[in-house]
Amino acid sequence: MSPTSGAVLVFNAGSSSLKYQLVQPADGTVLAEGIAERIGDTGSSMTHEQNGETVTETLQLDDHLAAVRRAERFFADNGTDLADAGLSAVGHRVVHGGRSFYEPTVVTPEVISEIERISPLAPLHNPANLVGILAAQELLPDVPSVAIFDTAFFHGLPDASATYAIDRAVADEHAIRRYGFHGTSHEYVSGRVAEFLDRDPASLNQIVLHLGNGASASAIAGGQPIDTSMGMTPLEGLVMGTRSGDIDPGLVLHLNRVANLSVGEIDTLLNKRSGLRGLCGENDFRAITELMESGDDAARRAFDVYIHRLRRYLGAYAFALGRVDAITFTAGVGENSAVVRCCALAGLEGFGIVVDEERNAVRSKAARRISADGSAVEVLVVPTNEELAIARQSAAVVGG
Ligand code: AMP
Repeated sequence: MSPTSGAVLVFNAGSSSLKYQLVQPADGTVLAEGIAERIGDTGSSMTHEQNGETVTETLQLDDHLAAVRRAERFFADNGTDLADAGLSAVGHRVVHGGRSFYEPTVVTPEVISEIERISPLAPLHNPANLVGILAAQELLPDVPSVAIFDTAFFHGLPDASATYAIDRAVADEHAIRRYGFHGTSHEYVSGRVAEFLDRDPASLNQIVLHLGNGASASAIAGGQPIDTSMGMTPLEGLVMGTRSGDIDPGLVLHLNRVANLSVGEIDTLLNKRSGLRGLCGENDFRAITELMESGDDAARRAFDVYIHRLRRYLGAYAFALGRVDAITFTAGVGENSAVVRCCALAGLEGFGIVVDEERNAVRSKAARRISADGSAVEVLVVPTNEELAIARQSAAVVGG
């Protein structure tokens, strides 16, 4: 049997980027991966890794279809004819499922129309995801496309945590509720936590901290999320790389009425020029840590605000859960920044949370425990793998 037989090609299309990975869902083997950046802009580039070799190319990519076509040729150069590779599915990350989608969904023309209809809920993301779907369908018409929604895991959030306290009629008319995002990651990581601890997921109360450039926290009781920090959009919640997270909504009104910023300008301010970047000019924790070490006050404040917000959510979720069995860090910052993990949980011994300094300092790509022996709450670092989760869910829905 060919190594690609039954594999899933996973696409994660952003507004100007396209990440892809060819993965075997059964054992998680990554057969190839790549990324196209600055699509539709000058200086677009693509990187493709396969058979232990990495090729980077600067080329003109006018649209996502051009990137998918170039990816197909990269595969062909490595001896993989995608159309004839026995793929079970192409799995697509779709950011917003709105009220319509909360299961892995085989893409049909009706599904495409519905994703288009709900795109105003995620104007930065869903249209790009759709372009990725259409490009993949054009290239691989015989392979089923499956949409995996970032909101799906949080579909069953209790009403009390999903509901904004605004006029009910307005909320209903405009599909306003807390949807939550990064669901594929929170679901995958919380499942891995149960495996790592060799516990039945139904018996565990967990807090998962997905700390990447975007960041979110979730409280999960017995495998079901009961709260999450992102809301109607991915802007709510934790301080992020370039997003503000929680702010007083009155601030938006003030920016408009007093600072004379348009809605579009406020959107850009809160999504792209806020968070760590807004506070200190950097959104990468490696740079922020270096700046702090050199005595930079703005970087120190950005770090402190980030940690303060994180601890506020930890406290809230601990009370929402009533008992916490495990706190898990994941994604770029969570997996790599020992100082963030340490500061997030410092001084919480009274709550049964004790981080072991040496374990926390170890750098590793494996799931690991960083709590001290005897800590009542397990503290873990578990690498997320959204591509594998998408591949598994896609293969499962097409019967692969
Ligand atoms: P993600 O969105 O999950 O890819 O995470 C990206 C973020 O992870 C970057 O913006 C960095 O802030 C952070 N990051 C990645 N590697 C490291 C590292 N070695 N140390 C600290 N932060 C890191």
